[in-house]
Amino acid sequence: MGKLFVIGIGPGAYEQLTFRAREAMEACDLLCGYKVYIDIVKEYLPDKEYFSTPMRKELERCRYACERAAEGRTVGMLCSGDAGIYGMAGVILKLAGEYDVKVDIVPGITAAVSGAAKLGAPLMNDFCVISLSDLMTPWGVIEKRLREAAAGDFSIVLYNPMSVNRPEHLKKACEILLEEKAPETVCGYVRNIGREGEESRVLTLSELKDTALDMFTTVFIGASNTERLCSPQEETKMVTGRGYSEGRL
Ligand code: SAH
Repeated sequence: MGKLFVIGIGPGAYEQLTFRAREAMEACDLLCGYKVYIDIVKEYLPDKEYFSTPMRKELERCRYACERAAEGRTVGMLCSGDAGIYGMAGVILKLAGEYDVKVDIVPGITAAVSGAAKLGAPLMNDFCVISLSDLMTPWGVIEKRLREAAAGDFSIVLYNPMSVNRPEHLKKACEILLEEKAPETVCGYVRNIGREGEESRVLTLSELKDTALDMFTTVFIGASNTERLCSPQEETKMVTGRGYSEGRL
């Protein structure tokens, strides 16, 4: 029986890949994925066979991986971050039923986690994750989730904050959040986490509303007890209170 690993490779940097992900990739003779991730992995595993398709061709890529695994090969489907968070794990598990393939999901560090560490500690208490991409979720549903997350005073992580085809999504999302949240709410973003050109910034929700970002960025919206910590030695940090009884900690 063929074997199909669905592997989260983390944000990009080799050090943020898990040992298990590395072992799974070594066990594979064919690695499939979006070109950007394949290029990252090729640098340290140059001798594998690779198959990539552009964005939006995910289903074709998943079927190709299932078919090759059904032929008896050991195949890896690579996803950035974690394979089960806006990744391919669910699709592969559903498709695998049509093929005689054993699936093994290998977790990775998702952008919410790697980005949070870069900014400080914005996710110390309850948080939720919302994608602003309406390719597969209607915009009305996204708006409802934003309103309810704001009403629940969660820290909110936004994936897919904007792209060339969706230049207004982040602005619209901030406007919805501002119906409930203060304009000074502490926010942050991290771009190219673990990749060349990594950059981050802590800013207010009203500043975020007018900021141009891209799809390689993850955005963090603070809860009402999220603070900006400034120290002369370090970059400004974004920290959410854990709730210990000693005042604001
Ligand atoms: N499976 C991935 C998410 C894929 S959705 C994960 O678990 O991280 C794509 C979105 O993830 C991007 O638009 C961006 O918001 C976020 N993202 C993924 N990798 C990133 C990185 N290296 N730097 C910043 N954001 C990233």
